[in-house]
This record gives sequence, structure tokens and C-alpha cells, in this order.
Amino acid sequence: MYPIEQVEALNPEVTRMVVRAPEIAKKIKPGQFIMLRIDEQGERIPLTMNDCDAQAGTVTIIFQAVGATTMRLARMKAGDALLDFAGPLGNPTELAGAKRACVIGGGLGTAIAFPQAKWLHDNGCEVDVITGFRNKDLVLLEDEINQHSTRQIIMTDDGSNGNKGLVTQALQRRIDEGADYDLVLAVGPVIMMKFVAATTKPYGIKTYVSMNPLMIDGTGMCGGCRVKVGDEYLHACVDGPDFDGHLVDFDDAMRRGVMYRSFESAAREGRDC
Ligand code: NAD
Repeated sequence: MYPIEQVEALNPEVTRMVVRAPEIAKKIKPGQFIMLRIDEQGERIPLTMNDCDAQAGTVTIIFQAVGATTMRLARMKAGDALLDFAGPLGNPTELAGAKRACVIGGGLGTAIAFPQAKWLHDNGCEVDVITGFRNKDLVLLEDEINQHSTRQIIMTDDGSNGNKGLVTQALQRRIDEGADYDLVLAVGPVIMMKFVAATTKPYGIKTYVSMNPLMIDGTGMCGGCRVKVGDEYLHACVDGPDFDGHLVDFDDAMRRGVMYRSFESAAREGRDC
């Protein structure tokens, strides 16, 4: 069993959870994920690492209570335990060698973008972090990002923080101002990652996107997490989750992402599918 050490609501939708998992904490790197299962009846869900502490033996995850399992997870408390917590899975993000990076987080994606920004900043890279939220009450990790970035730009869809606009508008503005990025990383809604990649493409800036398609086993066996990249289908779990944003077929990913909506709603509402 994997004891839960801390649970904290970051906003009305999002929870931060610290889990004791010493073997994973020693090895996990930015961009990698774990698969967890609450109990014998539970479904397996992938969650990308937000932070880890090898000395304390803990891994931090941040999740949005959107489905049956994440809603159950959000009700768990410190002292409870998870049955399975398997990882690290997937490949670490390729960060070495970057000198001037822009890390972009859309909504909850900010939680996953954070360890990349932290690694880059701690390793001497100049890092702009651009995050976007629907409104100011949903802003995540502002203090943590301030500590681990050169510059933080927070955008809100409704302008309630005084900075109205999408993350792509802030990115375009920074490029126009002369920010000479050699790497852009984007984590967030697929539609956001599509437009981030479209923004950087004319400038030839290397752009990685973190794909989170439906996933069942996380080890390449089920084939559920196929992503079309260039001419081939790759698996987010073993080939990703990061891919070259200029090659990903985002429209295909969006089509696949809604295939099981009715099953997901039924599970959330406790109905039979
Ligand atoms: P959201 O819908 O509130 O969007 C967050 C931000 O993304 C917006 O504020 C905006 O700045 C930007 N954005 C949205 N649409 C855009 C567009 N068309 N063009 C440019 N920018 C756009 O996000 P949410 O409700 O917090 O949901 C989080 C999303 O992140 C979910 O879709 C979830 O699946 C995804 N996510 C992805 C990963 C991953 O690994 N890729 C991890 C966690 C969450």
C-alpha cells in the first residue's frame, strides 16, 4: 500500500496529494508519470508527476476531480492509502542543452509543466513560464513558479487577473519582443497545444507537447493511447508522453479523446454504461 501523507485543495477543482513511494521518488524525472489504483475495484489512471522528494521518499501528484476516480481520489485524506502506485512510466522530457526555454501550462497542465520549468531553471536555463486559466481563482502554483523561473506570465480567459488573453497571445508577444527560445514545452488542453505548436512552427522553434490520451495499462500493451505523429501511430505511454508538436495530428487526438464520453459520464454518475 502507498500511504497518502498530505492532501490540499489548490482551488475548487484541483487537489495536490503527496504519496509515500520511496522507490519511485528515487527515480522519477520531469515528464514521467505513474499509474494508480485506489483499491481492488478501482480503475487504473495515469497521472504525471508534479514533484518528488527522493530524501523524504514522496511523490506529489496534482489532479482535477473530473471523472469517477479523480472525484473519489479528491475525497481521500492523509492517512488513507492507495493500493497501486506504479512507475516511473513513460520517458523523461528531453531538457538537456536548452539555454532559453518557454514552458507553457494550460489550466491543470501547469502542474505537469512545473517540474520541467524547475529542472531547466535549476540547470542554468533562462525560463519563461506562461500559464493560462479561465479566471484568477483557478490560478495554480504562482509562488512555486516564481521561485523557479526567470519570468512568469499568467493569462486569464476573462481578464480577472488584469491580464486577459490566451497563452498563445503571450507567447507570440514574447517572440515579437525578441525572446530567442531554443525550446518550447506545452502541457494543457489538446487545442491549446495545437495552437502553441502552430505559433512556434514559422520560427522553427523546437516544441514538445505532452499528450495525455486515454490509457489503460501504461506499458504499451493495450494500444489505447495511440497518437498520430507524422506518418505513424506512436504510444504515449512508451514512446511519449512528449512528442514533437510540429508532427502531432492534434485533430485526430481530439477525435479519439471524446470517444468514450458517454461511458465516462455514466461512471461519474454511478449509472450502468
Ligand atoms: P482550460 O480549458 O481552462 O484551458 C486552460 C488554458 O489553455 C486557457 O486559459 C487558455 O490560455 C489555453 N487555451 C485553451 N484553449 C486555447 C486555444 N484554443 N488556443 C490557445 N490557448 C488555449 O483548461 P482546464 O479546464 O484546466 O483543463 C486542463 C486540460 O489540460 C484538460 O484538457 C486536461 O486533459 C489537460 N491536461 C493535459 C495534461 C497533459 O499531460 N497533456 C495533463 C493535465 C491536464
